[in-house]
Amino acid sequence: MSHKPRILITNDDGIFAPGILALREAMMEVGETYVVAPDSERSAVGHAITLSDPLRVWEFKRNGEFFGWAVNGTPADCVKLAVKAILQFTPDLVVSGINQGANTALNVIYSGTVSAATEGMIMGIPSIAFSVASFQFKDFTYAKKLAIQLSRKVLAEGLPDGTLLNVNIPPVPEEEVQGIRITRQGRGRYEEYFEKRTDPSNRVYYWLSGTKVFVDTDEDVDEVAVAQNYVSITPLQFDLTNYQFLTELKQWGLERNGKSSDS
Ligand code: MN
Repeated sequence: MSHKPRILITNDDGIFAPGILALREAMMEVGETYVVAPDSERSAVGHAITLSDPLRVWEFKRNGEFFGWAVNGTPADCVKLAVKAILQFTPDLVVSGINQGANTALNVIYSGTVSAATEGMIMGIPSIAFSVASFQFKDFTYAKKLAIQLSRKVLAEGLPDGTLLNVNIPPVPEEEVQGIRITRQGRGRYEEYFEKRTDPSNRVYYWLSGTKVFVDTDEDVDEVAVAQNYVSITPLQFDLTNYQFLTELKQWGLERNGKSSDS
């Protein structure tokens, strides 16, 4: 490209989160940066978009300097709004994160971080989601280096149509990172339960909780790699069709040509 790459940065932890500050600092090494992010935490909103409320945008400052645009919407809203209304140009790259908390296995479905990158991918823009696999670990030194390296590579190589990269980084200092693995999405899920509590007015409320159930052991699975202190890079696509069962389902005799009422 003839111009400096233009990079849209968003997240689901909100524009105040330390992870998006780190990602912006990293991306300033790669190109021109534009931050459009939710005004508050929107973790686990998945690919939700806002249709029944107005979207409001304001300029958000950090230390008295313009940092980006805050939006009262979801991560997917932010990407759509950025491209179609705020920036009015198509960025060369969309990066989302750096999320606090792993987005591996089943988490990918619920993740706002990944959904922002998915939205970029739907709009035909190369997109990458970055997560550090911890809610506490705040040292983004290595994650920033990796983000710079990978963003440059993606800008140079491009990504296939309909594909985004989901990157998960182990929450350890650089010298303890064991390497980088190209992985596939795991099947790990949660053993979930609701804590039943009582509020000060004696009304019952519930709070979702759960513990992770690891079901995969292969080294090329996203959460296995991260557990072994490897960076996991998974190419994701969003064709949810089960092609194997599609063939079998065709044998069920459900298909008809035209509308028939007999069964
Ligand atoms: Mn989050």
